[in-house]
Amino acid sequence: MTNKIVCPHCKSADGFYTKERVTGSAHIYYNSAGYSEGAMYDGLSHHGGTKAYCKQCYKLMGKTEDLASGNNEEDIRWR
Ligand SMILES: [Zn+2]
Repeated sequence: MTNKIVCPHCKSADGFYTKERVTGSAHIYYNSAGYSEGAMYDGLSHHGGTKAYCKQCYKLMGKTEDLASGNNEEDIRWR
């Protein structure tokens, strides 16, 4: 059984977002022509993100811990 998360305000099943503050440092790499080649992020940490907002109407949908699937945030690679 898959439970679809539906916004209680606009009935959208489009998903939700959280507001998080991210702190840490980044190494930005350039090649010999001065073009940026990408970035590597170091020791990022997240703050907040406890409230979930609707992507459609931006209203508060509830607590992230009640809505999120439980996929581990450590699996995300910031590259
Ligand atoms: Zn909504």
